[in-house]
Amino acid sequence: MIIISVILFVVISIFSVIKILSIEHPTSTSKFLADDALEVDIPKSGLKGKSIIVVGGGISGLSAAKYLLEAGAKVTLLEKRQIVGGNNDPYLKDGKHYATTVIVTLPCQQPHYLNLCREYGIEQTPHNFVDLEGQIILQDKALSLKMGSGGWSFFKYIFKQCTIKEIIDGICIMFLFYYQFRLQPESKKSIKNVLGNRLTNSSVFTHVFMPWIGINTWCRFDDISSQPAHIFGAFIYEYALKITIRKKDYKKYENGWCVLDGRLIHKLEENLLQNNNYTQKLNTSVIGAFKDNNKISVQLDNDTKLDCDKILFATQPFQALPLIKNIGSKSLINELKKWPKMDCYVILHRDLSQIKNMPWIHQTHMNKTTNKYYITNTIKPIMSDIVFDCTITFVYNTINYEDFIKNQIDESKIIKIYEPKLPIFTLDNSVNRNKIWNFIDNECQDVYWTQACRSGIQYHNNAILNSKRVVKCLINNELSK
Ligand SMILES: Cc1cc2nc3c(=O)[nH]c(=O)nc-3n(C[C@H](O)[C@H](O)[C@H](O)COP(=O)(O)OP(=O)(O)OC[C@H]3O[C@@H](n4cnc5c(N)ncnc54)[C@H](O)[C@@H]3O)c2cc1C
Repeated sequence: MIIISVILFVVISIFSVIKILSIEHPTSTSKFLADDALEVDIPKSGLKGKSIIVVGGGISGLSAAKYLLEAGAKVTLLEKRQIVGGNNDPYLKDGKHYATTVIVTLPCQQPHYLNLCREYGIEQTPHNFVDLEGQIILQDKALSLKMGSGGWSFFKYIFKQCTIKEIIDGICIMFLFYYQFRLQPESKKSIKNVLGNRLTNSSVFTHVFMPWIGINTWCRFDDISSQPAHIFGAFIYEYALKITIRKKDYKKYENGWCVLDGRLIHKLEENLLQNNNYTQKLNTSVIGAFKDNNKISVQLDNDTKLDCDKILFATQPFQALPLIKNIGSKSLINELKKWPKMDCYVILHRDLSQIKNMPWIHQTHMNKTTNKYYITNTIKPIMSDIVFDCTITFVYNTINYEDFIKNQIDESKIIKIYEPKLPIFTLDNSVNRNKIWNFIDNECQDVYWTQACRSGIQYHNNAILNSKRVVKCLINNELSK
């Protein structure tokens, strides 16, 4: 007991001293995130008479369309599915808004998302799993925790339930990530590189950090040698423990986990459709983009060609790559090649055998075919103000999904399965990103690209931020001609 108290005291003192002295590297991830939180001043003119095609109707494409219209452009948005919303996949039932793959947001740390919601009068709804105990399964025992309870309370829970070895390993891991997040220039080191073999194989990392943090940075066990440590660290210190709070003028509950449903998507679409300069074509897939004699056009899957002055692709990197190969700048094409694709599985079900009556549970399972660990996250969310009548489990990779279906869930209780794709973070694509994207955007003339993954962790907030940055650059490039 005395040893643990001394260790805790020393660690908390070190953390406090670092925080008080604000020893922060000028290009650390925490500084990057602070910059990302600043409002982007987008010119409100400069595109009058320009016709711009936006490809992709996710949150990136919709928000980009909004800012392009505000600068005077004529915008045509092309979306291959029958609804807009992309990976949010929103739907409206009995007057209530739902999203199918995304579920949570931390509004005060997602300032661009929060500001846009405020602009449309959308109030944040606190999640019902906040303040209720959920569990992380630590090999042979369950570690009970409250979601969003903050750093101090988190330590109290750990202190009560873990062995000394687990606590020491956990503290070392926390410290190493803190170092990468705040004291290092945006880290070029992978998770494995920073933690070393012993800590990456420790039960605290495999059974607590991976299912708790890895699931939120879309990190699979296969990625720990390639996912940058600063991305993982950013989630711990910016989101999970809320040590770095970006937006100050928030309401109390906006500094906690809130519901992310389809309201913002639906409001954006509703407002765009009221603008005479906006055209939206659903069920319309772009299959190519061309430039002939200074004329830019996109080729649609229905044998139609649409001409325009500029194209803004707002799709995932691997979706954009084949479309821009004839027309995009070299540096943009090279950058998009750096983003591998991941298969995600979002399983809506009523098998409560593992989650029981808890609001959430994070788990590490052993894949019986590969003998490797994989993580799942099971949540009973609320969408809008109503209780969602089933449970959601997130699994990544087809081989793990197959194992989960075979060995971990009662298949007869599955209601629906969604299969979104996601670009994954690597050391190649997630270091120095703001500098790289600034350079690429400035180089673009006719064809631009944006998507949530461009900056750090890929949430709705990042999608909106990047749309603002790209639209601003597009306008400035136009004005400087
Ligand atoms: C499992 C999972 C859970 C998540 N949880 C959260 C969460 O809790 N909170 C959060 O903030 N974020 C979450 N996210 C991330 C969030 O979904 C994304 O950040 C966001 O939806 C990305 O929006 P986007 O517009 O950048 O891209 P996308 O949503 O991928 O939109 C791209 C759009 O382009 C369209 N398109 C593609 N190719 C073409 C083409 N050739 N022609 C026409 N249209 C095309 C697609 O149909 C799609 O609509 C989650 C993602 C996943 C996969």
